[in-house]
Formats: sequence, C-alpha cells, structure tokens
Amino acid sequence: MPLITFDGISQPLEEVQDNPARFALNLERAKKSPGYAVCGCKPRSVSSPLRLVIRRYGKLFHLARWPDEGAKHDANTCPFFSESSPGAESGATAQDAIRNTPDGLNAKLDISLSVRTVDRVSPSGGSTPTRAAGRRSAPLLGFLQRIWTDARLNQWSGGAQRNWGTCNAQVLAQLGEGKLNGRPIQEVVHVMRRYEESQQTAIKAELEEFLARIQTTADASERGIVIAEIKSIDLSKYSFVVKIRQTFESFFAAKDVIEKAAKSFRYAWSMIGNAEARVIAVLLLERTKDGNLRVIDLAVQLCSKAFIPCDSSYEVAMANRLVADGRRFYKPLRLLPGEEMLPDFVLVDTPVPTAIEVYGMESHDGYRRRKEQKQAIYSQNRTPCIEWVPPAHLASVRLPAAA
Ligand SMILES: [Zn+2]
Repeated sequence: MPLITFDGISQPLEEVQDNPARFALNLERAKKSPGYAVCGCKPRSVSSPLRLVIRRYGKLFHLARWPDEGAKHDANTCPFFSESSPGAESGATAQDAIRNTPDGLNAKLDISLSVRTVDRVSPSGGSTPTRAAGRRSAPLLGFLQRIWTDARLNQWSGGAQRNWGTCNAQVLAQLGEGKLNGRPIQEVVHVMRRYEESQQTAIKAELEEFLARIQTTADASERGIVIAEIKSIDLSKYSFVVKIRQTFESFFAAKDVIEKAAKSFRYAWSMIGNAEARVIAVLLLERTKDGNLRVIDLAVQLCSKAFIPCDSSYEVAMANRLVADGRRFYKPLRLLPGEEMLPDFVLVDTPVPTAIEVYGMESHDGYRRRKEQKQAIYSQNRTPCIEWVPPAHLASVRLPAAA
C-alpha cells in the first residue's frame, strides 16, 4: 500500500481508508489547499506530484484517482492505477449500462428506484417513462462485480489482510459523484461504513439519515441501495431477517425474494456465516406501508477473507492461501458475455502471468468439457497453468516461486 501525503502528514493508504474519521480534519484542510493529496506509489519530483482527488462524504473524506492520471500510478501496488483514462475506455459507448466518467460512475440498473404505487393514466397516454435511446441496463450482481473490479478489489498486491474499511473507501471513490438511474449516486446508494467504536453514533446517524430517505407515500415509493457485508440471513416467524455487518440494523425480506436469491447465488449462500469467507451484497430496500424496511431484491457475491471475489468454496480456500503466502494475483470477473474461459485466478508475481485453475465436479459432464477446453487454450497459448483438483489437499498444490 502506498504512502499518502496530505496536510503535512504521511500515512499508509490503509490507515487513511480504515480510519476516515481520524483523518477528516487533515483531509478537509488539504482539500482546501492545495486541493489534493499526494500518492507516494512512485517516486516523483516535488514539482509534479501524483495527485489524488479528496472527495467529501458527509463529514468524511475519501481519496480517488485524479481524472486521466490512473496510468501514472504503480500497476502492481497502487489501487489508484488504471490502465486507461475513464474517457478513453476501450470500446465504451454511451449505450453501456455502466460507464466511468470524471465525476464518478454512471450506471443504469434494471431496477426501479422510484415507483408509483398508484397508476395514473394520463390523457395523452404518455405515462410510460421515456427510455434513453436503447441504453442497456445492468443487473445488481453485474453492478457489484463491476465496481469491485474498477475499485481493484479483485486484485491482491501482497499486503496484510484487507478489511471492510478499504472496501468502503475504494468503492466510494469509484462511485464518486456519479449517477445511478439518473439520480445522484450518493443519494440512492449507501456503502456501509466500517465499524469503529469511537464512531458508533456517527455511523448509526449516517445510516439512519440514508434510510429515512426510503419512503412510501400514498402514491409513490422511493427506494434505496445498500452495499454491505452479510452477517446472517435467518428465517423468523413470517419472513427472513437479513443482518449486515458493521451495524445492528437488520432488514426483513419475503420468503420468495430469499428463495430466489438462494437459488441464483447458491455458492455464496452456503458460505454465509463461514469464518473463512465473506459474502458481500447489494440490497434494494423499500419501506412497507406500515413503515418497515424490506429487502425487495438483492445480489450477493462470495469473497475470500480479504474480499477477493470467488466462485466456489474451493476458490475461497485458494484465494486465502495466496493471500497468506503474500502472492500478487487477481481474480478475473466475467463482466461481458464471451468471457467464460477466463482463468479462476492469475498470479502476476511470476516471470510471466500464471493461471490458476480450481477444478471441481469431475463427474459433471459440462464441467469436464469446459475443463478440457480451458486446458487446450492454455497449451495452445503456452500459458503456464497451475491446477488444483479437489479433493486433493490444497497444501499439495505447488505454486511457482514469486520472482
Ligand atoms: Zn498511486
């Protein structure tokens, strides 16, 4: 993690991200003058510092990539690195569901944030919302995976463990002052803040302020999105109770919503509450007529202990081992159709990138075919590949030495 300099102090990025309240005053001063913080991931001359945007979130501040300067950061160690500037994203078009803009993320999701509960038929018949000419929309999981990837949280640069503070800060930096379904993103998305005992009151107040905006009146319903780590999902008397980490707040969800999600995200589901894994979620919330908050849709993503996205419990075990071994690697996420043949993980600290494949379910025909296809691609491209075929013990997998 790079050292960040602002207001006359230098701190590891992790410290700043995990303790936003402790550095709020310094960051506020630096935001006023000189108007930026400085990233120390690469040696630079004093006259051309590697600037970071200081963004305000309520009483707190977070660091973000300076527009068009992502490529100047260290590709291996700095989370502010990005291959191309957001404006020059390869092949990005106005039709894309999710775009990066200098202000932050601009996303169109296939959900409604505002719903009329009374259907008024207008005389002109124009009650159908006009659609931005053919712009695609993304599902909740696609949204979560995209921000995780853009925030480089699917990468590991060999440090110590990563906690929710880092995820919160990097996701917020990615969202920026963007838009979601045309609404200011900070108004409709709440990224749960890491719990700090000294900040307990502030954290509770922030969440309550956000939740208070989720209202249902006689003729309309305003919804909101919460991004958080799932603690538990349990059946209570009449419905399910969704508990998230970092807060005591819990939400209700109807049986059909939970059953659908449990089926769609079954690998993540089975790991909820498992200490070896993390399960992150996007929750779409609505208030019932009697004032209770309800989860009306959700997507969850299984992650390793260090919040690296994973597709199975075996991948979680592999990612946990790679982090414990101090390796540098990333998890490619299938963001576009046609990317089914991506490796499970890629080691980047070897002389050439090394693929890691976690093969399971040998008895499953479709799975075996996919494995053969992948093996053919690796041998054709001469890509080094390490395989793990459970139930063989993970410790028996020999990894190439880091360069
Ligand atoms: Zn940097």
